[in-house]
Amino acid sequence: MHNVENSIREAAKKLLSEKKVDLIVGYERGTLPLRTTPCFVDKAEDVRKLVWNENCDANLSKYLLSRKENVGVVAKGCDARSIAVCIFEKQIDKEKVVIIGAPCLGLIDKKKVKAKLDGRELLEATIEDEQIRLKGEGFELVFPKKDFICNSCLTCRHRNPPIYDVFTGEKVSEAEVDEFGEIADLEAKPAKERWEHFKEELDKCIRCYACREVCPLCYCKTCFVDQTMPIWFGKTNDLSDTMIYHLVRAFHVAGRCVDCGACSRACPMNINLREVVKKTEKIMKERYDYTAGLSLEKIPPLGEFKIDDSQEFIK
Ligand code: SF4
Ligand code: SF4
Ligand code: SF4
Repeated sequence: MHNVENSIREAAKKLLSEKKVDLIVGYERGTLPLRTTPCFVDKAEDVRKLVWNENCDANLSKYLLSRKENVGVVAKGCDARSIAVCIFEKQIDKEKVVIIGAPCLGLIDKKKVKAKLDGRELLEATIEDEQIRLKGEGFELVFPKKDFICNSCLTCRHRNPPIYDVFTGEKVSEAEVDEFGEIADLEAKPAKERWEHFKEELDKCIRCYACREVCPLCYCKTCFVDQTMPIWFGKTNDLSDTMIYHLVRAFHVAGRCVDCGACSRACPMNINLREVVKKTEKIMKERYDYTAGLSLEKIPPLGEFKIDDSQEFIK
């Protein structure tokens, strides 16, 4: 991990010194244990601020949207994939971005950590030898790191960025995981039970839109939920209004979602938003053999029309 961190700093320093970019977007240490925060470096001497670890969880592609200057960005596999989608959709100018790709070993899920703390305050945390040590007033707990890995990372097959300009560190082996196993139980339920499940889950939603704000693919200048002329649906958190928000959002990210998990991590109500988007990802894979963000050339299924498409859905 330290090798990757040094390698990121070297790459950033070179890019800034050679004036290939005006700015590096990466991560720096946060003020709380197990936290990092997005960091913006515009001087070569400041690259020492950049860190790389299991807590670099923000999807930084969000910070590239509409930027005018040349930017170098640190990217995990899922970040690079969302950058690829945004480049394809002309929201990010490839000529202005240098992707500093980094191999990812999976992120720590703070919600899983919190669940082990039983309300106690975490004052210090260290990760070493695949173990995580949590310390606070009067307690010290040690767990295997694997117990805290984000669910999106447990099913990830693209830890190495599929597109990059500079690669830092060494590539990690990609895991042969069951990408869609986690939605199998839900899929097996009858439609009525699935509907009840979603009603129960989404009834918790407080319409804070944190899931939209963190998603690199939610970039509309005016989101349909904020429009007032016309008002598409109510601003309340009545289930019918909430459901429309989530249904439309699911359609918007279908075939584009890279399963970075940022939406689920951001949700203050612990709603498993990945459940819905994972299903749309599966449909895209099964029907069109398409996985979002792996290429800058392949046209996404929802971006083209074929005269011989089966159209069985309108029969
Ligand atoms: S989804 Fe993959 S690339 Fe993204 S943070 Fe998790 S393991 Fe890393
Ligand atoms: S919908 Fe969620 S998992 Fe998919 S790209 Fe957006 S934030 Fe990431
Ligand atoms: S982050 Fe959670 S609570 Fe907020 S709008 Fe999204 S689903 Fe609802």
